[in-house]
Amino acid sequence: MEYSVNCIIIRPGELFLKGKNKFLFENCLFDNIKYALKDYDISVLKSQNRFYVENFNISDLNNILNILQKVFGITTISEAYKVPIDKDLIKETVLKIIPKKGKFRVTTKRAYKQFPMSSMEFSAYLGAEILKTYNELSVDLFDYDFNLNIDIRENKFAYIFFETIKGAGGLPVGISGKVGLLLSGGIDSPVAGYMIAKRGVELKAIHFYSFPYTSDLALLKVKDLAKKLSEYVKSIDLYIVPFTAIQEEIHKKCPEAYMITIMRRFMMRIAEKISQNNDLSAIVTGESLGQVASQTIPSIASTDNAINIPVLRPLIAFDKIEIIEIAKKINTYEISIRPYQDCCTVFVPEKPAIKPKLELVAKLEEELDIETLVNDAISSTTIETI
Ligand code: ATP
Ligand code: MG
Repeated sequence: MEYSVNCIIIRPGELFLKGKNKFLFENCLFDNIKYALKDYDISVLKSQNRFYVENFNISDLNNILNILQKVFGITTISEAYKVPIDKDLIKETVLKIIPKKGKFRVTTKRAYKQFPMSSMEFSAYLGAEILKTYNELSVDLFDYDFNLNIDIRENKFAYIFFETIKGAGGLPVGISGKVGLLLSGGIDSPVAGYMIAKRGVELKAIHFYSFPYTSDLALLKVKDLAKKLSEYVKSIDLYIVPFTAIQEEIHKKCPEAYMITIMRRFMMRIAEKISQNNDLSAIVTGESLGQVASQTIPSIASTDNAINIPVLRPLIAFDKIEIIEIAKKINTYEISIRPYQDCCTVFVPEKPAIKPKLELVAKLEEELDIETLVNDAISSTTIETI
């Protein structure tokens, strides 16, 4: 029978820069790892700046590794053979699992200083034992086919592994609070959500839709996007806000050039209210400077001016090509390019104002019953947990 790995080593990242907050961070990450793997019968352990997943069914290993690669706060992951720190036991295990051909090196790291041999001595010892046993193996410290790592830890176990894969990086979700992501069906906003979640925030998503101008398929697309994003942030509450009445009212009462500006100010006001009611500390958008008329600095100023809550724009300095690259990496791109109209494309003016004037905006808005429009939209908002 093939001898298989019995442990996954999880190395957190930036957590250790955080001094006194370290425990908060560790606990948050620990909980997030357990939550991410809640469908598996496993154990998760915490010991000396690392986490370990054990007691898994070997047939689940790849799925578990895939899930762990989406947990923010993890820098690297290795599948490993865990054995008590007994020299002979380690040697026996190594002789069983090592590939039988090729060039190798041994790298021992000894955190447990009572282990009777130094790291160098133990690497040399194991190397010699391997060479004695298998004559198609040779040592090359620099140009090797595989690196046999032996981590001797203070918990009196040795972890034997060959590879280290990259984790998602960032900070554990939840450590930086909760925000409201303005999620359209486009390419940018899901990427913005991913980027900000990576800095440790939980996401709620807010979507404006313009039934009957936009279809059920457009809404389904947004739900599918939220589902993809939820792989990184536990679950997402999606607030679905009917926006048609507001758009029609603006269309009726405001000059075309200012439609988008005023529409976006309404989105912000509604998002601000939802945030206040749900303890969200900022609004996040997928805007990128200069990408379209509503994303010039004066346009951004005019939307921010409508509200008091901070607006985070993680993509502000990104090129479209860079955004698309991330969208492909997180598998939202294929969903975003489905061809259904978004509410913003329903009443698009030919020449939107690229430098909206705040005094004029304020004057135009006097024609609108802002409070009633906002409250009506909020009272017909539905929430779906994704
Ligand atoms: P995206 O690709 O995210 O749709 P975009 O390049 O199409 O962005 P805009 O349509 O100007 O740009 O939207 C800018 C931002 O406003 C979006 O990234 C999103 O955060 C928010 N937004 C736009 N439309 C909606 C909507 N229907 N529901 C919720 N948020 C929206
Ligand atoms: Mg859009």
